[in-house]
Amino acid sequence: MRTHLHPLTPASAGTARQLRSLHFGRCETGQKVYIQASLHADEVPPMLVAQALRERLAALEAAGLIAGEIVLVPMANPIGLSQEMQGVLCGRFDMGTGLNFNRHFRHLTAELIPLLEPILGADPLQNQRLVRAACLALLAVQGATKLSETEGLKHLLQTLAMDADIVLDLHCDTQAVMHVYAGTPLAEPAKPLARLLGAQALLLSRDSGDHPFDETVARIWWELAEHFGPSRPVPPACFAATVELRGDLQVEPQLAEQDARALLEFLRQAGHIDGPADLEADAKAALCEATPLEGVEPITAPHNGILVFCKQPGDVVAAGEAVAEVIDPLSDQRSLLCATVAGRLFARVSRRYAGAGMRVCKVAGQQAFRSGKLLSL
Ligand SMILES: [Zn+2]
Repeated sequence: MRTHLHPLTPASAGTARQLRSLHFGRCETGQKVYIQASLHADEVPPMLVAQALRERLAALEAAGLIAGEIVLVPMANPIGLSQEMQGVLCGRFDMGTGLNFNRHFRHLTAELIPLLEPILGADPLQNQRLVRAACLALLAVQGATKLSETEGLKHLLQTLAMDADIVLDLHCDTQAVMHVYAGTPLAEPAKPLARLLGAQALLLSRDSGDHPFDETVARIWWELAEHFGPSRPVPPACFAATVELRGDLQVEPQLAEQDARALLEFLRQAGHIDGPADLEADAKAALCEATPLEGVEPITAPHNGILVFCKQPGDVVAAGEAVAEVIDPLSDQRSLLCATVAGRLFARVSRRYAGAGMRVCKVAGQQAFRSGKLLSL
């Protein structure tokens, strides 16, 4: 294992932070996997899964079983980890701009097209190499300019992942069952990942609206393929997904080991790890079908009040069924919150006092009915 320490731009005079990336296997093969944990720094379960991954990857490397290179960033957001505010670890938003750390990564398609127009040919593998080189060249130009600490961190993470075949961004929700987000064109490779993890929702979109990390590294490939067409084929060279490792209090060694085994079995089945199958990890049946992110219903509180749930994460609800009640302690007004679509309630908030308009839970319906910005803040 090789350890790289990447210094970040100091946020203020006299401070210094660094990002740590761990590199297993051999980079000269051209095969690459990139995994990062806790881009939202308040989400702790991914950090524990990364610890389990680090130990298992070290053993696999010692046994010579890593086919290419596997890069693990066991804590992707040291800036967010510093956001300790009055006893609460924040870590989801940049303090300077208010922007979510997992939004507004740089989407490269429009800049890539004129660079690639004169050089792509009929060989898909050569085109893949040219696309990756052009991506890294664009990011290198950006890296040479003055970036804020957060911009620099996002640029660094994107650069580390941009030439990978598989990118897994490990997060968690507040109270939730395991679920996975991926691009619609990546539905087929996402299914075994969701099955191995025991995911209860697999949510697909081509463009979720705000350029989250996984989408930024994957989306260029299907957009360039559509632009250049069959005469200059661009292969689907990157599978990327955001994995939501249940709720933020589910920090348990047994779960972390189980999740690490599932992720490594996924990498083995994709040809990035040699050796025999993990039969126990591979024995699970799929717990969900893929559904559109445009079919997720965020259920909102109609007024302020005490939030009392009658449905748990993982429950399947019918259209019109109540999932919670809101009770205003100042007016005694009571309102039932009902799903308008049938599907699985896969995540809910952890607080129990709702503000008017607050999204309190999400139901994965089967039919797309939303558009525009599909992700929460
Ligand atoms: Zn997150």
